[in-house]
Amino acid sequence: MQSLYDFNYEQIQQYALDQGWKKFRGHQIFQWLYRKRVQSIDEMSDISKECRDFLKENFIVNPCKIVDKQVSSDGTTKYLFELTDGALVESVLMIYDYGKSVCVSSQVGCNMGCDFCASGLLKKRRDLTSGEMVAQVLSVQKDLDETDDRVSHVVVMGTGEPFDNYEHVMNFAKTINHDLGLGIGGRHITISTCGIVPKILAFAQAKTQYNLAISLHAPNDTLRNKLMPINKAYPLEELMKALKVYTDLNNRRLTFEYILLKGINDQQIHADQLADLIRGINAYVNLIPYNEVDEHGYRSVDRKSAMVFYDRLMKKGIRATIRKEHGGDIDAACGQLRAKEEKKRMG
Ligand code: SAH
Repeated sequence: MQSLYDFNYEQIQQYALDQGWKKFRGHQIFQWLYRKRVQSIDEMSDISKECRDFLKENFIVNPCKIVDKQVSSDGTTKYLFELTDGALVESVLMIYDYGKSVCVSSQVGCNMGCDFCASGLLKKRRDLTSGEMVAQVLSVQKDLDETDDRVSHVVVMGTGEPFDNYEHVMNFAKTINHDLGLGIGGRHITISTCGIVPKILAFAQAKTQYNLAISLHAPNDTLRNKLMPINKAYPLEELMKALKVYTDLNNRRLTFEYILLKGINDQQIHADQLADLIRGINAYVNLIPYNEVDEHGYRSVDRKSAMVFYDRLMKKGIRATIRKEHGGDIDAACGQLRAKEEKKRMG
């Protein structure tokens, strides 16, 4: 059954009108979902019984059931959710000094096939609906409600390729961004893509406030082809052209994600090529420590080599940061918790 979270604000109002209800019914339902955060339709006490009965016959509220939760010593919390069809997805809550950030999944599995990533170990089963993404954030928010705390940031960096599920991801962002939804500021929402060029161009035209992050991970086509098959469809030159369109149309700073893989993309020559590739673009590089995945055999660089790479970029005039590691003591790498549970279920 469809979740009420699948509707954005305008859609739920329209739906109410289509049923012959007053327009404010939609408004009321939206408030019950996101302000009061009720988990059952019966709790919507100012909505007529008839109307509630109709909703109950056709919709559920939260399509995500928590099946596992791992809390790290640094507060990072990994959630494993089961959806109504039995599919499993992960989300992660990360604690920063500027707030609380939730990393959401956008698909069940992923087809992008990046060579270093745990998510791709299980092929894409299906796209998530926007409601299933909203539900991930809302379920975490429900936990935070207990201490009067709130989700302030959302990153679409969990399992899946958001631009391979563009419409649902954009609808999801709209709902969590809405003042009457979760009110998460547009500038606090980040969408990360491996580089699907036509959708980067569509996103550029959409002119939202959301941040765009690009998983780059290699500064030349030969290496990027090996690490990320998407590069064969959209090589670096095309990708960079699309990003230029994005920065021209949107006065927003881009993020390039770059995992430092020991002996693969971590040499001085790579830093130099990277600097040449992105010079002149309003962007910075986020250097990411690699979460080692047993099946892949890649190793992370040590802190010292990461610093050397960072210094080289800075010297070349490229702004960079080294991402702090979260949840080192739990299965925090993308897809690890889910892959484990899937294995267990398969016996
Ligand atoms: N498909 C999207 C979003 C999901 S992946 C994308 O490619 O951007 C989110 C980020 O995590 C990407 O930068 C991805 O390359 C990175 N990532 C994947 N596996 C990782 C691992 N084991 N350790 C660290 N980062 C990883």
